[in-house]
Amino acid sequence: MALPATMATAAPGNACDNRSNNSYDKLLQCVTTEGVLEHMQAFQRIAEESTDPVYPGSRASGTTGYQASVDYVAGLLEDAGYTVTLDEVPITFDYPSTLTQLSPTRAEHPNAIAAGSGYTTVEGRVIPVDLNLEGDRANTSGCQADDFAGLDFTGDQDIALVQRGTCSFEEKATFAEAAGAEAVVIMNQGNTPADDRQGVINPTLGTYQAEGPVVGTSFAAGEALAAPGATARIVLVEPDERIDYNVIAELPGKNADNVVMAGAHLDSVAAGPGINDDGSGSAALLETALLMAKSNTPNTLRFGWWAAEESGLIGSTDYVTGLSPEERERIALYMNYDMVASPNYYLGVYDANESTFPAPVVVPPGSEAIEAVYEGYYTEVGQPYDDSEFSGRSDYQAFIDNGIPSGGLFTGAEVRKTPQQQAIWGGTAGEQFDPCYHLACDDITNYDAEALEVNSDLIAYAMLHFGYSTQAVNGVPGQKVPGRASTLPAPAGPEYTFAGGGGGLAHDHLHDHDVERDSA
Ligand SMILES: [Zn+2]
Repeated sequence: MALPATMATAAPGNACDNRSNNSYDKLLQCVTTEGVLEHMQAFQRIAEESTDPVYPGSRASGTTGYQASVDYVAGLLEDAGYTVTLDEVPITFDYPSTLTQLSPTRAEHPNAIAAGSGYTTVEGRVIPVDLNLEGDRANTSGCQADDFAGLDFTGDQDIALVQRGTCSFEEKATFAEAAGAEAVVIMNQGNTPADDRQGVINPTLGTYQAEGPVVGTSFAAGEALAAPGATARIVLVEPDERIDYNVIAELPGKNADNVVMAGAHLDSVAAGPGINDDGSGSAALLETALLMAKSNTPNTLRFGWWAAEESGLIGSTDYVTGLSPEERERIALYMNYDMVASPNYYLGVYDANESTFPAPVVVPPGSEAIEAVYEGYYTEVGQPYDDSEFSGRSDYQAFIDNGIPSGGLFTGAEVRKTPQQQAIWGGTAGEQFDPCYHLACDDITNYDAEALEVNSDLIAYAMLHFGYSTQAVNGVPGQKVPGRASTLPAPAGPEYTFAGGGGGLAHDHLHDHDVERDSA
């Protein structure tokens, strides 16, 4: 039987670093919340100290904050004796666009750029086009060529201001450019108080290739820009090609052909330090790797810290697709840890056996045996758990696309906790599992200590478990873990609180979810 760390006595002195933690007792005695938190604090410090010229204060892809995270993780692993590979990942680095009102009052307005627009600076008069800022705010702003008749677009830096409503963004932008506008600002309609009718618009243009910048903004920004005599500046910078790195650390076992792999993404979004997403998974995995450095498991252990997950699973996809078929064949299984200590958490396990969610992907056979270990462990330590959709919406996607059995843990993101879930896991019903999801406040205060402790232990437990045997997953005979036996009980079963949906990473997990994408 495994001891949860809370019940284990601390190992004396630096024994944890100097011995082989090759039993459940020894390993779980050494994995502590304090140890994992040290790495989360380091990620916080790295973000705070990042003076990246474009996205300071974060660990986002392509920034100095990301590079410092790579150095931190790789340095500790090398010191612990791992063979560390920095795996080059080419990325596209997007610069933020700016929409600055210059007169009658100066203001920086929040904005989003349309795809396909030119990279340039436009500075000139703002010309409102058939707006309706009063009453029901119903309008046909920019929906026909007529709307532009009588307006003077003869200048060489004219900015058309159109309002969401009636027709598509594509039509509004097409007519505005045809009328002679060098740039187009599409403001939200403001017809209801709902966020999606007030906030920043993402001005998707369908098939239209705009010549100049087309920028979406909020209703409030549009109102300010509609002031008589307003001028503004729009700056769009062309993206760079840059190189990020995945950190891959390996501990060779006797079975080089049976590799047990686990990963977490090392990048944050640009908004902040990314401590729960995914400093939590990165830190728990790092602590596990460090404590298993002398564990001598029969199966080869491999750990991955992924670049550019938030930009579209770039690092993990690059890694898996870059392996030869033979190298992929050697990977027995992959375990993914993305957000494992959400402040208003539930304990979620990727639902490989589809007992709650029909998976939108093909689940590689053997994945359900990974789920069973997580669920057996939660049952053993008396923690209720639930299913999280086996969606592929994180770094396990490339692995499952290549038929590699996968699993993982997830404690919730932007979905709001129900009263039933509050009764089971505590916390606050009506609030998001992670109220700071993809925001600046995802900082060192943004985690739950109990979720972190339970899941850190489980991440270590699973690595040791499969390090000795993956038989239940892929039929390769293994060995018994030394020391006191751990026979996990049959899983107690999920709580089924997501029977109505909502248990996985959001469909827009990889994108800026504040941006409204509809057109009319
Ligand atoms: Zn994430």
